[in-house]
Amino acid sequence: MRIILLGAPGSGKGTVAEGLRSACGFPKISTGDLLREAVREKTPLGLVAASQMGKGGLVDDATVLALLRERLARSDCREGYVLDGYPRTLVQADSLESLGLAGPEIVFNLQVSDEVVIERLANRRTCPNCEAIYHLVNKPPKVAGTCDVCGAALVQRNDDAPEVIKERLRTYHAKTEPLVGRYAAKGDLIRIDGNRAADEVIRDVRRIIDAALRRPDGAWMRR
Ligand code: AMP
Repeated sequence: MRIILLGAPGSGKGTVAEGLRSACGFPKISTGDLLREAVREKTPLGLVAASQMGKGGLVDDATVLALLRERLARSDCREGYVLDGYPRTLVQADSLESLGLAGPEIVFNLQVSDEVVIERLANRRTCPNCEAIYHLVNKPPKVAGTCDVCGAALVQRNDDAPEVIKERLRTYHAKTEPLVGRYAAKGDLIRIDGNRAADEVIRDVRRIIDAALRRPDGAWMRR
């Protein structure tokens, strides 16, 4: 099964994707993680991406597609995966379709208010090593400043700075939100209230996926 998570930055896509990975074994494919890895490794592609990411805009479609295509070709994606952060534009949705990937697809839209996004991102800390995500109030690490999973020092992402958050939200509303209408028109979209605690959101998403997996033809989505 191919699962697409849509939603604003801070809507919980990464946390839900991680929840599905650990509970159901779906690989989490985050284009943000792939890009940050390329930036850290200073690959030619990473050098191009860094300036666009730092300003809160989008990396160009061709660069992101190249990274995604390579990742989806790996063997762990054969049975399905969770896409976190792709597609982010109508052009990217076309590119995804043109890859001709097999299997049923579910698209979840994690709906959150801009106020919740701003609060969450300001309190978000991430692990630069394993990409685990924390919230200083709702999900603090066991030892302050240290990743529970791998022990690395946690950081605040550069693009979680207040002025960059505003630009990311603008980018989201202008370029990514139109995808909601597109997938809704196709009948593939499931709306989820993302303003709630992560556990509740993950539980709802899992319930829907479990029901879908009991319908191997994916027909439930088109009823
Ligand atoms: P994320 O970790 O999903 O919040 O992504 C962090 C940043 O990476 C975004 O603000 C964009 O600059 C870039 N990015 C991630 N995914 C995409 C994408 N599908 N298309 C373009 N840029 C992306």
